[in-house]
Amino acid sequence: MSSLPPFNSVTFVGAGPGAAMHLTLGAYHALTHADVVIHDRLVGPEVLALIPSHVTRIDVGKEGFGPSTSQSSINATVVAQALTGRRVVRLKGGDCGIFGRLDEEIEALEAAGIGFAILPGLTAATVAAASIGQSLTRRGRNAALRIITGHDMAGFADQDWRGLSRPGEVAAIYMGKRSARFIQGRLIMHGASGDTPVTVVENTSRAEERVIAATLATLPEAAAKASGPAIILFGLAPREAKVAINQLKEVRA
Ligand code: SAH
Repeated sequence: MSSLPPFNSVTFVGAGPGAAMHLTLGAYHALTHADVVIHDRLVGPEVLALIPSHVTRIDVGKEGFGPSTSQSSINATVVAQALTGRRVVRLKGGDCGIFGRLDEEIEALEAAGIGFAILPGLTAATVAAASIGQSLTRRGRNAALRIITGHDMAGFADQDWRGLSRPGEVAAIYMGKRSARFIQGRLIMHGASGDTPVTVVENTSRAEERVIAATLATLPEAAAKASGPAIILFGLAPREAKVAINQLKEVRA
C-alpha cells in the first residue's frame, strides 16, 4: 500500500456506486487514514459504514434537481478543511472523474496552493453492465462506448444522436431519467429502431438494486419507474443467464 497522503492535501476518492465490495484497497486505505471525509449523497451506506468513528464526516449531499449544496460552497468547504492541515478525503460516488465536477474542486485547490491526489473508483456503468451480465464493448457489435449525460447545466444535453442511432451502438447514459423522453425522441428521429434494447439499472450494487428491461420504444415508462439513481444502458439487454447477479447477492449476504 502506498504511503499516507501528505498533510495539507486532498485525496479525491471514487467510492463506487454502492456496495463496499466495489471499493478499491487504495480507497479503503484513504478512508481509514483520513481526518475528515467530505462526501456526496451518492456514496452508499455500506461505504460510509467503513469510515472509522473518529473521522469527521461532512455530508455535502446533492442530487440532480433536488435540494443541493452549491458547488462553490463545496469547493470552499474542501479548501477550508485542507487549510486546517488535516488529511482530507473528498469521497464521490462511482468514479470521481466521471460526471463528478472534479475539475472545479481541483481548480479551487490549485488556486489555494493545495496539493491533491486522485484515487479512481468503479463507475456506475461498469457495475450496472456486470449486473446484467453484459460487457460494454463487444467484438463485432460496438468498438466504442459512449459515456454521456442526459442533462447538463444548459438543460437536456445535446449529444451525437445520429452516431448513437446506428445499429449496435452502446451508451451508458448518466442522469438520464428526466430526459428519457427527449433522448428517445432524438434517437428515433435519427433512425434508431424502437426495438433497440435498453436497460435501466436503478441503485446498482445496492440492496435496492432494480433492473428494468425495456426497449427504446418503452424507455420513458421504464425510466419513470426508477426513483433512486439510475443508469440507462442503451443498446444492452439483460443476459438471460443471471449468474453474475446471483454471485453478487451471495457475496453481499
Ligand atoms: N461519478 C458517478 C456519476 C455521478 S453522476 C459514477 O462514476 O458513477 C450521477 C448519476 O450516476 C446518476 O444520475 C446515475 O445515472 C448514476 N449513478 C450513480 N450511482 C448509481 C447507482 N448506484 N446506480 C445507478 N446509477 C447510478
